[in-house]
Amino acid sequence: MSGGAPLLRPVIAIVGRPNVGKSTLFNRLVGQRQSLVRDVPGVTRDRLYGRVTFERWQATAVDTGGFDPSSSEPLIEAVRRQVDAAIAEADLVLFVVDARAGVTALDAEIAVLLRRAARPVVVVANKIEGDGQLPELGDLFALGLGDPVPVSAEHGRGVAELLEVVRDRAPRGTTTAVAPATPPVYLAIIGRPNAGKSSLVNALVGAERVLVHDAPGTTRDAVDTAIDFDGRPYVLVDTAGIRRKGRVSEALEKLSVVMALKSLERCQVALVVLDASEGLTAQDAHVAGYAHEAGRACIVVVNKWDLVPAGMVRKAEVVEQLRERLPFLDYAPVCFTSALTGEGLHELFRTVDEVAREARRRVPAAEVTEVVRDAITRRPISLKGTPLTLHSVSQVAVEPPTFALRVNRPEEIHFSYERYLVKSLRRAFGFVGSPLRLSLRKAPGARGARGTRR
Ligand code: GDP
Repeated sequence: MSGGAPLLRPVIAIVGRPNVGKSTLFNRLVGQRQSLVRDVPGVTRDRLYGRVTFERWQATAVDTGGFDPSSSEPLIEAVRRQVDAAIAEADLVLFVVDARAGVTALDAEIAVLLRRAARPVVVVANKIEGDGQLPELGDLFALGLGDPVPVSAEHGRGVAELLEVVRDRAPRGTTTAVAPATPPVYLAIIGRPNAGKSSLVNALVGAERVLVHDAPGTTRDAVDTAIDFDGRPYVLVDTAGIRRKGRVSEALEKLSVVMALKSLERCQVALVVLDASEGLTAQDAHVAGYAHEAGRACIVVVNKWDLVPAGMVRKAEVVEQLRERLPFLDYAPVCFTSALTGEGLHELFRTVDEVAREARRRVPAAEVTEVVRDAITRRPISLKGTPLTLHSVSQVAVEPPTFALRVNRPEEIHFSYERYLVKSLRRAFGFVGSPLRLSLRKAPGARGARGTRR
């Protein structure tokens, strides 16, 4: 979509102590069940973004995530971080409390933080359901954050009323984001379960100099996340699908492949995420193969690099091993990241920019012709007794760069010779990150050739 400057949607963050129903409320607001989300109590959840639509009004909801019970960090610290992040990033904060449980000490702490923040806050009294008996809401008034709005996120009760309040109180347009001037680069983050995809998504979203920015027309779906890095727009596709919890069952493993294929369809650049602490597995190679076959530009991301003791292996050695084990992906640059520490993320963005640019590059026909002629001259072949002759060649497509060659006997050219031609083109033009495609066609009027002209 283009046209006038897009109106930016306000960002609404959901905060609250564990088990008050934040995630259920998020799903209600975003209006879709995330099929891959399994509700395993006590499992860390990451931040998730989704689009909220109410009548003609739209907003972006941020689920700030759960708390890791295995963490040694005191819960109050984790909650504080969650609230700080929400305040920093949101235009309005939804503070969810469990109305049946009343106000706990932790709720009171959160209220203190929120009262200090210069953001509108709406208190959501959740878990009000069934028998028509309203629990005592007096406590909630005492939080000093205005009238609580009663809902049952589980049953969807009161959600429309809540949205009405939110719409009225949210600022028009966001306070921070800027509209994109250039079209975004669509990125898919794929890899086997536990490679660190969802952590990486969160790290990219939370990285320095990154702005979460959700303008109409930049995201095609509520499942995507639109961000800016240094003012350049990117869309992380299917981020809702990447996120899932708990142990990965076989069904989920299969689904993760389906997800990968689906997001590959929609992306320009695929980030194939590997776990540095585990090395390359057969499943990694499969996923990488899908990216290659889909014709997408591709970057291999060696994540969890923080787990590799300094000095144990050099990056160059890892790259060498990857080249050996993923020979078909020899064009993909390798980036080293830690979703945990944020290491390597800026470098990753720079690589994405380069790879996206290269995937769209066109080279003039004269240059392509020279390179292919030269390659054929250096390694002449004979096709059923006739030397291979080139009639013409030009680049006919981008993403991936595709070259059409008109030759005398296209059907006789061996695959290994095609590979040689691709290598020659690669050496001459680079196209880092992109697979290169050849389309061999019969030269018009080629002598001694049978078959149809195309
Ligand atoms: P996904 O299944 O690919 O989405 O993987 P997750 O993002 O859920 O990560 C799997 C596990 O690896 C989680 O326990 C993460 O905390 C952990 N993890 C992810 N990235 C990193 C990283 O860069 N460093 C370390 N040390 N752990 C990570």
